Amino acid sequence: MRARALVDLAALRANVRTLRARAPKAQLMAVVKANAYGHGAIPCARAAREAGAAWIGTATPDEALALRAAGDRGRLMCWLWTPGGPWREAVEADIDVSVSGLWAVREVSDAARACGRTARVQLKIDTGLGRSGCQPDDWPELIAAARAAEDEGLIKVTGVWSHFACADEPGHPSIQAQLRVFEDAVGYAERQGIEPEVRHIANSPATLTLPESHFDLVRTGLAIYGVSPSPEVGTPADLGLKPVMTLSASLASVKRVPGGHGVSYGHHYVTPGATTLALVPVGYADGIPRAASGTGPVLIGGKWRTVAGRVAMDQFVVDLGGDSARVGDEAVLFGPGDRGEPTAEDWARATGTIAYEVVTRITSRVPRVYVGETVDAGTDAHENVNKNESTDVIGQES
Ligand SMILES: *Cc1c(COP(=O)(O)O)cnc(C)c1O
Repeated sequence: MRARALVDLAALRANVRTLRARAPKAQLMAVVKANAYGHGAIPCARAAREAGAAWIGTATPDEALALRAAGDRGRLMCWLWTPGGPWREAVEADIDVSVSGLWAVREVSDAARACGRTARVQLKIDTGLGRSGCQPDDWPELIAAARAAEDEGLIKVTGVWSHFACADEPGHPSIQAQLRVFEDAVGYAERQGIEPEVRHIANSPATLTLPESHFDLVRTGLAIYGVSPSPEVGTPADLGLKPVMTLSASLASVKRVPGGHGVSYGHHYVTPGATTLALVPVGYADGIPRAASGTGPVLIGGKWRTVAGRVAMDQFVVDLGGDSARVGDEAVLFGPGDRGEPTAEDWARATGTIAYEVVTRITSRVPRVYVGETVDAGTDAHENVNKNESTDVIGQES
């Protein structure tokens, strides 16, 4: 195989259990937006359910509807709506929809009326992030509209929720400020007769660092994939999390070249002496950041190497120095780190981005290979690698 992203579903299940234990009084929502941060939404949602995730969350309604089409039947929420969105399909599929403004109360009410059902609506308050969510000044008006729609039987407010701006910087003053605004907004809604099933604000970093933010539900994305939200929150090992994705490729060329040989576009690397160059057949079309040119770490033959010269669309080169390798040998870009390979966090540092982006940006050209699909109560999935593999080219799934 040219390249593959191995996705260890046993590790994902173990991470979900670890996170549930960190928030023992709350339910857990596994966030699988953006194709489960690049890991494959349908298999990851299934594995998260197996490990006790009562909720699944997505950004777009299309992502949520795709899960229903694949057979997911549990509590499911999506939050990124625009006017004219598939409200009726979502209501008919029993998906909880987020509402931040009066236009959305109108659209979801119309959809409920049209299909003769009661929509499950979660009201979002902007407690300070400054993205979606109702401004606190407008909250009474939104609550009044929601109560009126409840009285008509069109909607049921199932949740009141918000999102943190700086939870990945523990101790940031905005965190306590957001919590206070959230508590006020929940209190106001309840005094007006709203009876939410769930109140929630915690993402992965808040789940890991701030128990008082857990309320009834924690929405964990990155952490279920075994990746740390930030160095301040800790390493995955500190947090008891196991990285789920291992990205590797087979060397497509290994050859000797003389000193002074330019390497890749622009000749930003020139061999310092006679050496061996290995060609790793993945590039920015596979989601390898072009910013990894000259900096990205790769494990080949048990040693860390660095991308030599530019990352191109389909490939990059590594200088093996005095060492040899064979065409077809494995190059590991990132993984759990337990075989000495770099991690997603190492790639984030090397390329000036966050680990969220490193895993999420791996494109559908890289086949996902699933291991640990069999529920085995959290035993080490590596035992199952060859017995239990399946391949999915994501993006061709639905
Ligand atoms: C992406 C997202 C999450 C999950 O965030 P993580 O930091 O990955 O845990 C939670 N809530 C909302 C609204 C999100 O958009």
